[in-house]
Amino acid sequence: MESGERKTCIVCGEQQAEGMTIVTEFICTSCESEMVRTNAEDEKYPFFVRQLRQLWVKFHA
Ligand SMILES: [Zn+2]
Repeated sequence: MESGERKTCIVCGEQQAEGMTIVTEFICTSCESEMVRTNAEDEKYPFFVRQLRQLWVKFHA
């Protein structure tokens, strides 16, 4: 098993080694913590929702 494996984050599109995988998609730690801090009034919130929706669409396809 290769250490330092990088995956492409679905939110920022960057290749990151640290993060979590939801279903089949990867979210890096920085996006994850940013999402946690983002509330519904934040202008970035719809962006996160849209990115995550792609994940659910794939999951239910
Ligand atoms: Zn990211």
